[in-house]
Amino acid sequence: MTTTYVIVGGGQAGAVAATTLRTAGFTDRILFVGAEPHLPYERPPLSKEVLTKPEAARLTIHSDGFYRDNAIETRFGVTAVTLDAGKRTLGLADGETIPFDRLLLATGARARPYPLLDRLGGGVHTVRTLDDAEALRGHVRPGRRVLVVGGGVIGLEVAASVVAMGGVVTVIERGDRLMARAAPPPLAEELLALHRDRGVAVAFGCDLTEAVTAANGDIVLTAADGRRFTGDLVVYGVGVELNVELAVSAGLYIDDGIVVDEWGRTSHPDIYAAGDVARQWHPHLKAFRRYETWANAQNQGAGVARAMATGEPCGFEVPWYWTDQYGINIQVAGACDAESWILRGERSSGRYTLFGLTDGTVTGAVTVNNGRDMRPARALIAAAAPVDPAWLADPGQPLRAPAPRAA
Ligand code: FAD
Ligand code: NDP
Repeated sequence: MTTTYVIVGGGQAGAVAATTLRTAGFTDRILFVGAEPHLPYERPPLSKEVLTKPEAARLTIHSDGFYRDNAIETRFGVTAVTLDAGKRTLGLADGETIPFDRLLLATGARARPYPLLDRLGGGVHTVRTLDDAEALRGHVRPGRRVLVVGGGVIGLEVAASVVAMGGVVTVIERGDRLMARAAPPPLAEELLALHRDRGVAVAFGCDLTEAVTAANGDIVLTAADGRRFTGDLVVYGVGVELNVELAVSAGLYIDDGIVVDEWGRTSHPDIYAAGDVARQWHPHLKAFRRYETWANAQNQGAGVARAMATGEPCGFEVPWYWTDQYGINIQVAGACDAESWILRGERSSGRYTLFGLTDGTVTGAVTVNNGRDMRPARALIAAAAPVDPAWLADPGQPLRAPAPRAA
């Protein structure tokens, strides 16, 4: 009898899982369902090249032919609407019911809505999907005033792209620093200087209370303390909501994501989850973790598919992401809450590395235009051993793990 494995969610995690099931030796039926009408594509270019250099953007993860050649049946442009864990069936919006033996939920996340702004209708954008990014691109022109609400990673990448397109940007952030969720304080300061140097106005501590479109078409946003911001369009990035509805309907255990074990198994033994939507147990850390990064979607999508095919547990990779702003490549690994940060190199050179130290061990790292330090930096974080801070700070010493200890 044929065994059927179903993947729900045509993003990074789903696409890599489909490939990995085959490379890991699963030879029976694979069915891959995705709500978006496109072939699965990479999201990182959406806030970068898709806005600034659309002709150079490389998006599609695998061609149509790839799925055909690997006997992966696809249902793109169709949403899965029901999941019956007891009967092991998935129901699609077009009425098809798919019985499965094992199923992977790689349903990711969507932009968290902002009802105050959404009510304005026209002129308000988010950037989560290719269609979102293309819609925004069509509205940015030289001289247009763009109000970016949310100084997180979406907000800042969009701000940099809009500046490159000739727009005039104001970033409106509720908190008191940029990228509070994903950047350590010294990087947040660097980013603030970078954006202000390019003419971006950045306002902190702004809790928006009113949003109106004036008779002349201007959009006017007002903060609780009375500050007003006027623009031609608004882009907001205020975090995500996880696509957990199917998991909820199937009665799976959820706690800030679909909770999975080190094999990627949910509270149902034949239903797995990976990517932004999954919060996985890491025995090495003795903790559950959920990440919203490309590398996690890639590694966990592959790891969980391998676990489905072979029964091997997933490995653990030091978490890592990158962001590109104004042509500057920034990479961040590990934790952002280190006790202290050590500089390796000269900030003024525009190329340097920061190491976060806690209890004498490296727990985090940031490279600015210095990606070659990232691999050894991640190895140092993984090693979790005491390090000599003077050695770390000396660019003349090749980075390696294990590192010399303090004398
Ligand atoms: P998603 O990419 O969210 O894919 C999930 C898919 O599942 C979606 O297509 C969704 O439509 C589909 N789906 C959901 N529910 C259903 C259903 N019921 N039926 C069928 N299909 C369904 N990370 C970095 O590390 N570096 C970057 O530079 C970077 N840039 C980014 C730029 C942007 C604009 C965005 C939005 C994200 C960026 N990220 C970046 C984050 C990274 O892209 C995500 O972490 C990654 O895409 C998550 O992949 P995923 O497959 O888990 O989920
Ligand atoms: P983030 O959570 O990174 O940032 C959201 C920001 O918006 C925070 O600074 C938050 O501040 C602020 N905010 C929240 N509510 C308000 C409000 N009402 N008014 C003003 N500011 C507000 O989410 P993003 O939307 O930037 O990113 C969404 C997803 O896309 C994430 O999964 C992210 O990882 C991914 N992404 C990753 C990229 C990368 O890795 N290079 C690039 C682009 C997107 P506060 O702290 O006060 O809540």
